[in-house]
Amino acid sequence: MKILIIITLLFTSLFSGDVFDYKLTPKKVSENVWCFFGALEPPTKENGGAMVNSCYVKTKESFVVIDSGPSYQFALQAYTAMSKIAKLPVKMVIASHEHDDHWLGNNYYKEKFSSKLVGPENIDTAHKSVDETRMFKVIPKNAIKGTKIVKLDQHIKKSTTITVGEEVFEIIPIGEKAHSHEDTFIYLPKRKVLFAGDVVMNGRITSNRDGSVIGQLKAHKLIKSKDWNVLVAGHGYITDKTAMDESSQYFTLLNKRVSQALEDDIEASEITKLVKMKEFEDKAMYKELNARNVLDAYIELEFVEE
Ligand SMILES: [Zn+2]
Repeated sequence: MKILIIITLLFTSLFSGDVFDYKLTPKKVSENVWCFFGALEPPTKENGGAMVNSCYVKTKESFVVIDSGPSYQFALQAYTAMSKIAKLPVKMVIASHEHDDHWLGNNYYKEKFSSKLVGPENIDTAHKSVDETRMFKVIPKNAIKGTKIVKLDQHIKKSTTITVGEEVFEIIPIGEKAHSHEDTFIYLPKRKVLFAGDVVMNGRITSNRDGSVIGQLKAHKLIKSKDWNVLVAGHGYITDKTAMDESSQYFTLLNKRVSQALEDDIEASEITKLVKMKEFEDKAMYKELNARNVLDAYIELEFVEE
C-alpha cells in the first residue's frame, strides 16, 4: 500500500507539476558570448515570455548574465543549457531596464549563486516584492513558478565599469527617458560587443509607450559613438554591423514626419492616418504598435515645439 502511494505521488509530481519547457538553445554571437533569442511577438501563454534576448558572457572565473529573462524557470533552463558549455557560477547579472521580461529571472541567480544584481534604480522603485507584473498575469503558472521580485544590489546612475574575471563591463545609462524611464546599455571594450537593451530592436516594431523619440535618438547617438562589431538588441536576431539600422531609421523618420505634421498644423486625430511608417509595415508587431508610437510621438513633439 505504502509503495503504491509513493508511486502515485511520484507520478503526480512528475506529470501534473511539470514545468514549462522553454526549449532554450544558446547561440554564440562572439567569442565567449552566447544569447538566447526571443520570439518577435508579445509575451503569450505559448512563448512563456521568451520574447526577449538574454545573454551570457563567459569570463575567466564565472558567467555574467545580461538580462535574466521573463521568469525563474527561464533563468533556470538558460543556466542548465549554458552549464553544458562551461561549469561556472554566475557572479553578476546586469539588467538593461525596468521592463519585466528583462529581469524576472533575477531571483533564480540570487538563490542559486548569490549573484550580484545590477541595474537601473527604477527596477526597485517601480516594483515591490508583492507586485504581480505583466508576466505573472500573461504567462502560464508552470512558467512563472518560483519567480519572485528581488531587490538589486547596485544601482547604475552614471557610467560604471565593473571587471569580472578579466572581462570589462561598461554599463552606460542613457541619462534621460529613451525606451523606458531609465535605460542602460552594456559595452565590452575588449570584445567590441554591445548589449543595447530595448533602445535597439530589429525585425519588429518597438513599443515606445514608456519612451521618448528624442531620448531614443540620443541613445542611438551614444551607441554609435562606441566601437562595436557585434550588437545584441533587446529584441531581434540581427547582431552584425547593421543591427541598429532599423531602429535608427525608424526614430529618425518618425521624428521628421511627425515634426513636419506639427508644422503643418495637423490635428492629433489625423496624425495616425497621415504618418504610416510604410517602410516598416512588414516588420513584426507593426499593426499592434506603430499607430500608438506615432500618436505618442505627436504628443511628445508637440510640447517640444512650444
Ligand atoms: Zn522594454
